Amino acid sequence: MQLRHATALTSEDYVRQKGWEQASLIRCPLHPRWGCGFERHGTYTRVEPAGMHIARWYCPTGHITFSLLPDCLTSRLGGTLDAVEEVVSSVEAKIAAGSSIEKAAGEIRPDIDLPGAVRWVRLRLGSVRLLLLALVTLMPGQLGSEPRLGAVRKVLGTEQALLRLREIGAAHLGTLAPPFGFGPRPKRRWRKRRRSQQGAGPDPPRTSR
Ligand SMILES: [Zn+2]
Repeated sequence: MQLRHATALTSEDYVRQKGWEQASLIRCPLHPRWGCGFERHGTYTRVEPAGMHIARWYCPTGHITFSLLPDCLTSRLGGTLDAVEEVVSSVEAKIAAGSSIEKAAGEIRPDIDLPGAVRWVRLRLGSVRLLLLALVTLMPGQLGSEPRLGAVRKVLGTEQALLRLREIGAAHLGTLAPPFGFGPRPKRRWRKRRRSQQGAGPDPPRTSR
């Protein structure tokens, strides 16, 4: 299970200062009142950014590992929130200037084939749009009314909006999807569409609103 290590450190500083050594989880989140054998369980490394370690703990009673993810990092996706935000900001600017998502993707990832680049961009763009829609809805009046990155950046007065939102939206992290939140991945959209076209069974659970 992923939990938040609240820290304003950038990923570079987190690596340089070995932020994982400062990460602390005093009690087992599952058994805060009794001795379940909860203990520190070393660290694991992330490929990107280089040198990054994540502190973790283990509860032998619940057979569960807890890792403390610093605010700068994405969950279940390589790299940092800033890097994701940069991509989304760039794509939105290109689209606003009349570009197609395919053209924008090709410009942002010229190093891979176009279908791969489009998937890579869509994953980031789609997840940030869903995230902002969820947060604007969950926190009325706090993030403005427009669930778009540019608008939310303006309201928060920062170009590191995702990093700030880890703090502001901390209460919702457990239910929000990666790469921002620690909840389950959203269902694939084509499955949703097919199920609703067939009209069979109840709607799949919504992962965001
Ligand atoms: Zn425990």
